Amino acid sequence: MKKRITLLGSTGSIGTQSLEVIRAQGYEVAGLAAGSNLELLQKQIAEFRPQTVALANEDACRALQNRLCGVPGAPRVLCGAQGIEEMARLPDAGTVLNAVVGIAGLGATLAALEAGHNVALANKESLVTGGQLVLDAARRHGARLLPVDSEHSAIFQCLQDAPSARRLEKILLTASGGPFFGLKREQLAGKTRADALKHPNWSMGNKITIDSATLMNKGLELIEAVWLFGLPPEKIQIVVQRQSIIHSMVQYADHSVIAQLGVPDMRIPIQYALTWPDRLPGPAPELDFTRLGPLTFDTADEETFRCLAACKKAIAKGGLAPCAANGANEEAVALFLRDEIDFLEIGRLVEAAVDSDRFGGGYTLKDVCECDRMARAFVRDHL
Ligand code: NDP
Ligand code: MG
Repeated sequence: MKKRITLLGSTGSIGTQSLEVIRAQGYEVAGLAAGSNLELLQKQIAEFRPQTVALANEDACRALQNRLCGVPGAPRVLCGAQGIEEMARLPDAGTVLNAVVGIAGLGATLAALEAGHNVALANKESLVTGGQLVLDAARRHGARLLPVDSEHSAIFQCLQDAPSARRLEKILLTASGGPFFGLKREQLAGKTRADALKHPNWSMGNKITIDSATLMNKGLELIEAVWLFGLPPEKIQIVVQRQSIIHSMVQYADHSVIAQLGVPDMRIPIQYALTWPDRLPGPAPELDFTRLGPLTFDTADEETFRCLAACKKAIAKGGLAPCAANGANEEAVALFLRDEIDFLEIGRLVEAAVDSDRFGGGYTLKDVCECDRMARAFVRDHL
């Protein structure tokens, strides 16, 4: 039987690359969801013929319903965050690939896991904001989380040898360093949206590209790795690997280090999450070592890039502190993308939000939503 995939965030950078993998593998698409881009979603519907689609934006959703009304073979159209969650829960959803950006993806991750579906997770914010809820849901319903983030896919691939996985001593989480690697605070002041959107190695959505420039992305990924692989944060070392060829490494008890390498192409980790435990030929090109040039390694500068320091503080505080860091960051990045705050303000605001409370203890989904709302309000009150 052909594999069936429900793809959330289908119109984005990961979403469109996922559809390239799905097309190449001949998988069936059970459902597609996006925020508001109904033009692209409609093209995807015509090619992949899902039974259900959903749009978060209610106006865009109604417009799509009108366009598809009476069209033979048209999918059922669900609206709003609840519609996306309903779609993720459908019994025939298959593997749910969550490529929504931001905390907006959390509800659907939980819904899919609660329905017993495996989740291929690109939406790292699900684990950062609600890690305990996500892990509990997966365990309770016998569902699996399959990492799509390239570093976490690399670590997952390095851990496939089950007996030695128990002897994991350390994770070496690689970072490109982003467009501003090597710069100091005085050189970062005045960096614009256009400067920050020029990533050296990867082409991604705007939010994660800014997160790469501030190193918030590496902080979020550190928290993501804590939840996915069960190591304490002090056993996860960040290593700057400027060329983005080594996607991460693991070190075992005997100090043997295993790395995963490949061209910087997200279709490789996307495909592995969908074909695991098998590996199949795919659309990404091979790595030509004879043309590669030197691979370099550096430390990350937390003094300059305060978002990374803030995420480390947040995971050490525990509870909802990572959620507060994430909410403050989502709000600050949105302001930066509208040219309303300076680049360095993002780090200041995220760190201040993390420092503002203790955030300890357990939490419910309602607590996560409330913490996110408060972190966003904190940012607007401290501009
Ligand atoms: P994009 O901004 O390119 O795409 C985001 C997708 O989410 C779009 O389909 C968008 O729809 C949809 N969306 C936006 N808001 C909502 C909402 N409220 N409800 C439902 N859907 C929504 O982001 P990326 O593809 O770059 O990133 C997606 C996720 O993957 C992020 O969590 C990111 O951190 C992670 N990731 C991305 C990588 C990359 O290379 N891009 C690498 C590793 C991880 P619409 O187009 O209609 O707005
Ligand atoms: Mg990554």
